[in-house]
Amino acid sequence: MSDFQNPVAGFGVTFKAMFKKRLTEQYPEVKKPTAPRFHGRHQLNRHPDGLEKCIGCELCAWACPADAIYVEGADNTDEERYSPGERYGRVYQINYLRCILCGLCVEACPTRALTMTNEYELADRTRESLIYTKEELLAGLEDGMVDSPHAIYPGTDEQDYYRGLVTEAAPGTTQQVAVSKGETPSDQAAGNEESQERQQGVQA
Ligand code: SF4
Ligand code: SF4
Repeated sequence: MSDFQNPVAGFGVTFKAMFKKRLTEQYPEVKKPTAPRFHGRHQLNRHPDGLEKCIGCELCAWACPADAIYVEGADNTDEERYSPGERYGRVYQINYLRCILCGLCVEACPTRALTMTNEYELADRTRESLIYTKEELLAGLEDGMVDSPHAIYPGTDEQDYYRGLVTEAAPGTTQQVAVSKGETPSDQAAGNEESQERQQGVQA
């Protein structure tokens, strides 16, 4: 190849690339939808009446290869019930500085309490804000749900929840005061508003 052809050959690569389809994503202005089964932020699910599916068994934490989950279980009582059975997850945290979004925790969960959403914007300015708490991970309230803690549907037991026999909160169900957190009815009303605003922020 002559001295004249060398630089022209180099520009040939550039010239060809000018006519190819552009692959640049205009993120964050344009957000490309993920695949339906994309592994994103986790969610702690609820039964159809609003009680929590998590039983605080810690199997997800034991299955996690990155040691990203911290769970503390506690006993339900008739005065303060978060899930239909004996135990519930009192403390639940996922550290997104460690999580590799592998989904092994979801596989380990015996109650389908833990699933993953398609949300992938998991960046922030502080380390603390990337440790998601139970309040941040808990699913929002859908129609027919009442926020936990509250009593199970009258005339049913824990097994009925897993058989799908409870489809909504019983008429007259109201959220109980969370005694273990030292809450009063006014604290709880304020907490409900805060939780709804947070969920609206996630869905926006
Ligand atoms: S997705 Fe994987 S790394 Fe993340 S919390 Fe679950 S098991 Fe751990
Ligand atoms: S999310 Fe599932 S595996 Fe983890 S503590 Fe709750 S019930 Fe157990």
